[in-house]
Amino acid sequence: MTTQKDLFNSVKEQTLLSQISALSGWDALTGMPKDSGHFRAEIDGYLAEKLFQVSTGDNRKNILTDLEKDSASLDELGQLVLRKARKDFDMTGNIPEQDFVDFQKTLSEAQDFWAQAREANAYKIYQPYLEKIIGYLQRFIPLWRKDEKTPYDVLLNQYEPGLTVAKLDTIFDQVKSGITTLRKKIAENESIVDSSFLSRRVTKEQQRTYAMDAAQRLGYNLDKGRLDDTIHPFMEALNRDDARITTRWDENNFQMAVLGILHEAGHGLFEQNVDSKYDDLRSVLPISMSIHESQSLFNEVMIGRSKEFWVVEYPKLQSIVAPTLNDISFDQFYQGWLKTEATFIRTEADPLTYPLHIIIRYEIEKAIFNDHIDVADLPALWNKKYKEYLDLDVPDDLTGILQDIHWAGGSFGYFPSYALGHLYAAQFRATMTKTLDFKNIFESGDYSPIFEWRKSHIWQYGGAVDPNEILEQATGEALNPQYWLDFVTRLYSYYN
Ligand SMILES: [Zn+2]
Repeated sequence: MTTQKDLFNSVKEQTLLSQISALSGWDALTGMPKDSGHFRAEIDGYLAEKLFQVSTGDNRKNILTDLEKDSASLDELGQLVLRKARKDFDMTGNIPEQDFVDFQKTLSEAQDFWAQAREANAYKIYQPYLEKIIGYLQRFIPLWRKDEKTPYDVLLNQYEPGLTVAKLDTIFDQVKSGITTLRKKIAENESIVDSSFLSRRVTKEQQRTYAMDAAQRLGYNLDKGRLDDTIHPFMEALNRDDARITTRWDENNFQMAVLGILHEAGHGLFEQNVDSKYDDLRSVLPISMSIHESQSLFNEVMIGRSKEFWVVEYPKLQSIVAPTLNDISFDQFYQGWLKTEATFIRTEADPLTYPLHIIIRYEIEKAIFNDHIDVADLPALWNKKYKEYLDLDVPDDLTGILQDIHWAGGSFGYFPSYALGHLYAAQFRATMTKTLDFKNIFESGDYSPIFEWRKSHIWQYGGAVDPNEILEQATGEALNPQYWLDFVTRLYSYYN
């Protein structure tokens, strides 16, 4: 007879394999010798195949079918794991095997051609592969579709349970018009902010010392983590006792690594503080991207851009980099720190303009899947929206539509999570400040009340509770973008 234990054993095997695979991925991006890439590809391919077998093979299929007939025999956690494992199974299980294999091959080709197109600064090179990916997804959507209203809803749902075009249209309209109004106001009152001190030379060692001290004051535990160098920063969690972060450095732009490390440490904090009862089950209970991002952005923006934090932290930074910032007053520093400017590149955007980059991608994705826009017309649409929302004339494909790898990896419906992360973070903060006085907390030097709040209201649940439920439980309200708009309005009132 199949029991809950069989399910948990199977999921544990998947979890262990995922940890090995994550370790390999981290190593490949941090310290692996250059020449060993082909051996590593073979190892990774082998691991991927094993993982695929465990999560979609006959053994898993039989366990799922047996237990679904007898789900009353499972406890609450068992029922949750059963539902999640079934959802994962159906993601691939519903697609004809040959299509699935061909799709994976197309994705890896597309990423090569995306890189080639970037080198040649020519969208045309990448376009046929993008067309193929979209074609596959258009065929898969009916196989995945349950009761979603539109085809694009199916894709949104895969990253954020319950998210719909109808919800996002309302939320994003409010965000878009709020940002536009605020940017106009900032432009009208703009005094000259001299942020040139941000490019003064600060050594990598000084940056590391300050940023890692600050990350630890916010609770990131270095006995359960580490920091390494990489080109594109990320956090990799093997388990709650091993959540590693990475960063890149520029000795003439210390803001990048300081905010980057706070950001990745925010992801790490989440993983380090998930309840131990999910240890063996994390492969089917991954933390949704939106809520994960809300915690990295909480560190980076809600704290890392806030005045009450920097009033206390700036002298610490000054003393570590001395005498480099000795002549910069707090007001000068803070104004420079907040400087806002429209950028072509999403990952270089400041907190105020960032959601516009996401809204542009959302509207384009929606046009692809719900309105069947021609893939050849995407660059023109991209450029038109950058002009309209950010008043930027995109000079070429590299600075425009070729900047992100996501579509080449088949990830459509994923971008909105980044914007939701900002909105969630602000709503959490608004609730926290009803009972916690951030100014007093930072002045006291003991930041733990903020840590404890986040742990008990958010982190402990890991991926076992859906983000919208965590948000509602913690804040007593469904997602309300007004909290974010209020936050940025207050933030940028210091800017004038
Ligand atoms: Zn992040």
